[in-house]
Amino acid sequence: MSDVSNLEKLNEARVKTGAIVAQAVVKALQAKGYEAVFAATKEDALAEVLKLIPEGASVGVPGTVTIREIGAMEKLAERGCTIYEHWSPNIKPEDRMQILENENRADYFLTSANAVTRDGKILNIDGNGNRVSGMAWGRNTLIFVIGVNKVVADLEAGFQRVHAATLPNALRLSGNPPCAQTGYCVDCDSPARICRALLILERAVSGRKTHVIMVGENLGY
Ligand code: SF4
Repeated sequence: MSDVSNLEKLNEARVKTGAIVAQAVVKALQAKGYEAVFAATKEDALAEVLKLIPEGASVGVPGTVTIREIGAMEKLAERGCTIYEHWSPNIKPEDRMQILENENRADYFLTSANAVTRDGKILNIDGNGNRVSGMAWGRNTLIFVIGVNKVVADLEAGFQRVHAATLPNALRLSGNPPCAQTGYCVDCDSPARICRALLILERAVSGRKTHVIMVGENLGY
């Protein structure tokens, strides 16, 4: 068998594995009260997001790579949505707090997660607490888009993953916590510590519609 067909087979196996894992999590999430669907690719994930958010709606997007990776920011802007995002390079420092508040109060809060367990528990860790507060409560609709790379066996593996996911942020932000040097979490006491608020959603919260789009591809970190 040629190297090319070997690679094709490996790729097929990877796609199938991603689909099997993500679809199993969809079932677990549905059992916990989420409106959960499977999307095979990031393009399919974007199509699912656009089914949920009507033209002209306001959308809050906190710090998330996944939502940007699927191309949602550009598509939502094209459809006349008002997007609130504190990662925008155009935000003046004096406007930052208001933008964070607008993100959480928009019609839709569109985000990803740091980890999701096989049995459907969603974990997130935060420095400011804005992202986890927008997930914990809101009068708006909450939408998660989660790549299959975020799936973990259980809460213990989830705790490890949420700290590991902090490393790219530690490198990106100027605070320089210890993990930016070690490459792994040392449960630091540094003033630059990013990990300050941990949210575990055990089930969909009461009184709010929450959608989860589980994607068969790797997204975010
Ligand atoms: S070293 Fe500190 S900032 Fe880095 S992952 Fe651990 S607790 Fe978070």
